[in-house]
Amino acid sequence: MMKTQELYGQVTAKIINFQPRKSQLEMVEVIDECFENVNPELKDGHNICLIEAPTGTGKSLAYILAGVVNAQKFQKKFIIGTATKTLQAQLFNKDLPLFVKNSGIKINFGLAKGRSNYLCPYQLENSIADLPIDMVSQADGSAQKLQSIASHFKQGAWNGDLDLAPITIESKLKPLITIDKHQCLGYQCPHNQKDESNCPFYKNREFLKSCDVIITNHSLLLADLESGGGNVLPFKPADYYLCIDEAHNFPGYAVNGFMGQFELKQSIGLVNNASKLIANPGNNSYIYTDIPLCDDLAAKALDLSDSLEKLYQIIKLNKEVFNDGVFILNDYLNPAISQELKDLFVVIAYIATELAEGMKKIQDKLKEKLKSSQDFVTEANLVKLGFYLNSIEGIANTANYLINKDDSRYNANARWVEERLYNGGEEYNLIAGVTHVGKLLANKLWSRVHAACLTSATLAIGQRFDYIKFQLGLNLYSNLHEIKLTSSFNYPKHSQLVIPQFRYSPEYSTRVEFQKELGLYLRQILDYKEAYGTLVLFFNRQQLIDTFKMLPPKIQNKILLQTEYSSNQKLISEHKESIDTNQASIIFGLNSFAEGVDLPTRYCMHVVISKLPFETHTDPQNKVREYWVKAENGNYFMDVSLPETCIKLIQAVGRLIRSEEDYGQVTICDNRIALKQYGSILLSALPEFNRQYNPEFINQSYQRIRH
Ligand code: SF4
Repeated sequence: MMKTQELYGQVTAKIINFQPRKSQLEMVEVIDECFENVNPELKDGHNICLIEAPTGTGKSLAYILAGVVNAQKFQKKFIIGTATKTLQAQLFNKDLPLFVKNSGIKINFGLAKGRSNYLCPYQLENSIADLPIDMVSQADGSAQKLQSIASHFKQGAWNGDLDLAPITIESKLKPLITIDKHQCLGYQCPHNQKDESNCPFYKNREFLKSCDVIITNHSLLLADLESGGGNVLPFKPADYYLCIDEAHNFPGYAVNGFMGQFELKQSIGLVNNASKLIANPGNNSYIYTDIPLCDDLAAKALDLSDSLEKLYQIIKLNKEVFNDGVFILNDYLNPAISQELKDLFVVIAYIATELAEGMKKIQDKLKEKLKSSQDFVTEANLVKLGFYLNSIEGIANTANYLINKDDSRYNANARWVEERLYNGGEEYNLIAGVTHVGKLLANKLWSRVHAACLTSATLAIGQRFDYIKFQLGLNLYSNLHEIKLTSSFNYPKHSQLVIPQFRYSPEYSTRVEFQKELGLYLRQILDYKEAYGTLVLFFNRQQLIDTFKMLPPKIQNKILLQTEYSSNQKLISEHKESIDTNQASIIFGLNSFAEGVDLPTRYCMHVVISKLPFETHTDPQNKVREYWVKAENGNYFMDVSLPETCIKLIQAVGRLIRSEEDYGQVTICDNRIALKQYGSILLSALPEFNRQYNPEFINQSYQRIRH
């Protein structure tokens, strides 16, 4: 078999206008060495590599090449996990087809997405049947829309993947055409028989079993790990090589993946209805013939509903402890948490878990029954039961996080209630989950996967990977491969960094003065004569709006506010349209514009960072983290806050130079980066922007790009 490095030469030689990149070959070699020499007996991390690959490395080709070659050689699969749909689409539509074409290696590859991304023909059929009595939906066109979705699907030109739908499907219609895992009838569904399936989700799931390479997203990968591995995705971690791209986001996704939440008042109603569905002795209706089992579960549901009601009342009585709509439930952060409340959490966790288990038993029995004969009542009951089971599992899951024991920064849970209005009354959303995923990932992924590569443009702080390793639990392994590749871009020539001398910083005590100064400064620098594309980043919605209001109409007219757009894509196309017609356009964006956004050449010649992206201290998860770091005599600012800010800042300034053709300026309006001691840590982690101020730089860049 051809060596991976030789194959690299062969593949890249066939790519038109390809410029050889030393760092790309280096990345291929590091992954190849790691993937080739796996000893499953050793659990020391020798089979895991962390690679920081700056923009322009061409990292997707590097990991596809090393991943595919080794997967074929050792008869494994290759799974690629990413954070964004944009990258998934790029890998599926461009990078993998290009690799197949140029390498001559034949592989099957597919995209794995969650069930909610696919049309459920069974649900659609039922929704269409139910709609005529709903006059509201008739009036707003929902009925016609559902008919149109059904007819497109029936014609066979569309495979039911909602991302590829031939018509726009509004979010309000999604529940009418998709289904969750508990409601899905599986092989008892008339649309999904073992020998013939018309179900988009199951058809894709079957297809994935034959794939050599699967592209998925972080959330689905984590859902699979949570279910034990090999249940949501078709393969177990031991059977695949894994590449986690956009890996700096993986810990955040993992924290969200190991979390639960439910609306308290709505849940009380749902649990009561579940009880009636399972057993209603009043009218002698039982969901299943085992009456003692049904009676027992219905009684448990009523107990659960009582306990939830008690919880609701206690929270309502404690309204004064809500701070900005948030009531923290960790007793070490909130002395108002009584023993009565904690006992209630234990009861809720216990009953909800037992109830969910019992409901699953009934679900299995009903599915068995459907196998022998089609019965529409049982079918409908199964779907209803699945709906309630989904909610009760959510309650059990959340309640188990509520009662978990917290004992260190590695093993602590955040628990809180958020207040909101629902149907004119007070509703409380209970949220609980882990604050650190290191141990969970070590148990569920790192100790099981055959081999893995994690990559991103921002993994290291300076030369060190300590923080990302700590977040991912990779600090528990002594033999990891770590490499920080160098950038091929000539930053000093193509870019400059400006830190204006503001008198005030955005710290709490001077935030008002800072805001005035920021408004005045942006007035001066954003008054462009030429068609420059600019991205101004804010990390707080209110600050974005306040700043916009401080600007004169002639500048406001050039600004596109992220807060006014339903999708970033729509905003970006308007921005590009303006630049293409030689008009300046300025994006005022929030967090989601600080990473993953590609605005080449004139579309982004100036990135303005309004303030350093420090996290908010009011966030309950951060409060729990801070508590434990301090309890263990750590320094929260240096250990957690600064590294996180550093990674966000590198991502944000990384919007400027995306290719060798890009030029421009980064302006950081937060003077703490120049005045505070920690500022030097942040500055040294940024690319080598030119620091000699040249007032004409943007204009010169514009001329360079134009010619
Ligand atoms: S198998 Fe499940 S997802 Fe597929 S059509 Fe039937 S109910 Fe819907």
